[in-house]
Amino acid sequence: MNARDTALDPGFGERWTRAMITAFVAEADRLGELDRLAGDGDFGRNLTSAFGRVSQEVAAADPTTYAAWLTCVSRGFLGTGGTSGPLFGMFFRELARCADGDEPTVAELGQGLAAGLATVQRYGKAEVGHKTMVDALAPAVDALTSSGGSLRDAAEAADEGARSTAEIIARRGRASYVGEASRGVLDPGAVAMAMVLALAADAAG
Ligand code: ADP
Ligand code: MG
Repeated sequence: MNARDTALDPGFGERWTRAMITAFVAEADRLGELDRLAGDGDFGRNLTSAFGRVSQEVAAADPTTYAAWLTCVSRGFLGTGGTSGPLFGMFFRELARCADGDEPTVAELGQGLAAGLATVQRYGKAEVGHKTMVDALAPAVDALTSSGGSLRDAAEAADEGARSTAEIIARRGRASYVGEASRGVLDPGAVAMAMVLALAADAAG
C-alpha cells in the first residue's frame, strides 16, 4: 500500500488542533499588526476570538476523532466576524469531512484541502495573486495533490506563497481598500494559512 493511503497516526487531529490553539493565541498580535498596516486591523482580534471559541467547543464536545476535532475548529471560526472567520470556518468544515476513518490518510487530507480551497474561492472569489489566504493554500494543494508531495512539501509551498504576498497589492478583502499601501506587507491570512499547514506537517511527525 502507498504511504499516502495509510492513515496518519491516532491523535493527529488532536495534536494539530491543540498546536493551532497555542500558536494562534501566541501570534494573534503579530498577525493583527499586519492587518493594521494593510487592512482594517481586526484580524488579530478575530483570531483570538475564533480560538477562544475553539477551546470552548473542545471542552463541550470532548472530541475523539479527527472529524470531531476539526469540527470544533470550524465552529470556532464560523462564530467569528471579519471575512476570515467564515472563510476559515468553511475551510475547516471541508477538512472535517475528508476523513473516512478516525484519522485521514495524506491523500484524504489532500482532497480535504482541495475541497477547502474550492469553497474559499467559491465564496471569496479570490484567485492566486490577489493577496489572500488563497496565495498560500493553492500552492499547498498543488504540492499535495498534483505533485503527490508530502505534508512538509505542502507546508513549504504554502510558506513560499505567503511570502510572495509582500510584493503585491491586495485585490480582495479590506486590504484592497488601501491599494498601494498594502505593498511591502505580508498578507496576514496567507501567513495564517501557511502556519496551519506547517502545524499539520509538525503534528504528522
Ligand atoms: P477583513 O478583510 O474583512 O477585515 P479579516 O481581517 O478577518 O477580514 O481577514 C483578513 C484576511 O482574510 C486577509 O489577510 C485575507 O487573507 C483573507 N481574505 C479577505 N478577503 C478574502 C477573499 N475574498 N478571499 C479569500 N481570502 C480573503
Ligand atoms: Mg481585517
